Amino acid sequence: MTPEERSGALARIADEVRTCQRCRLATTRTRAVPGEGSPDTEVVFVGEGPGQNEDQQGRPFVGAAGRFLDELITTVGWRRRDVFITNVVKCRPPGNRDPEPDEMAACAPYLRRQLEVLDPALVVTLGRFSLGTFMPGAKISQVHGTIRPVDPGTGARAARAVAMYHPAAALRATNLKETMRDDMSRIPQALIDARAARPAPEADEPAAGPTAPPDALEPIAEPATPELQPIAELVPTPEPAPVPEPATAPMTDPIPVDPIEPEMAAPDPPEDLEDLDQLTTLEVVIAPDRSPETDQMRLF
Ligand code: SF4
Repeated sequence: MTPEERSGALARIADEVRTCQRCRLATTRTRAVPGEGSPDTEVVFVGEGPGQNEDQQGRPFVGAAGRFLDELITTVGWRRRDVFITNVVKCRPPGNRDPEPDEMAACAPYLRRQLEVLDPALVVTLGRFSLGTFMPGAKISQVHGTIRPVDPGTGARAARAVAMYHPAAALRATNLKETMRDDMSRIPQALIDARAARPAPEADEPAAGPTAPPDALEPIAEPATPELQPIAELVPTPEPAPVPEPATAPMTDPIPVDPIEPEMAAPDPPEDLEDLDQLTTLEVVIAPDRSPETDQMRLF
């Protein structure tokens, strides 16, 4: 799928969401919140549902929790627009109550279709309802900061999921802020791991040009710098091919993968922290270029 085809497919899904009447939340919403971000990203953040600010603006994670999410994303040198952010339910539950099972079931096809289009390598779950979608039966206090394979039935055909608390939880329990920063710091490596676990592109897919060199991953392995670097600058420009020799792809060294610690050092917060008073939609930050030849190099 070309970038233009992805953009078009996501826009059509968003149009359907904005006029959707599939569940009772349509009767109380101000605006539906389909999600937003780069259509070319490798990383999709999935929250629970829109809150009041999101309901008013029709955009995910635009309130206080959204600002904290933006802050988290920048700590690893990424930008909000480099990823894609969406929610399990696209319309605000009244009073920010939890979404009902039938509401989540009615809305599930939209998230599945978004993931089918985006085909991310990594899904970052935010909060327990998103966790329940990608890691059924898991408890956020036990699995946050860990990475798991994603069931292809979710729409993400070859992805891994990293569990995180919902940013709104950290606004209510400030000790969770450091926990979330720590979890976020693991995500670049989780993306590298997720890429390595993806199957090779199918043979019948067009090979339009040289693949990006493995060195493109190295900047992410380095400690995050305080100053943000445009992601485009992290993607090296291919050297001109020597004229007398045929262009051959360099051998790719295996990417060293450090296992993610299964448990975080911070003490588990009480589970009632997940009873959020503000459900916000995660927005996606995506890489600028995802042509067929750079399909595996969208963020770095
Ligand atoms: S929550 Fe989902 S299924 Fe329900 S009305 Fe909104 S878009 Fe439709």
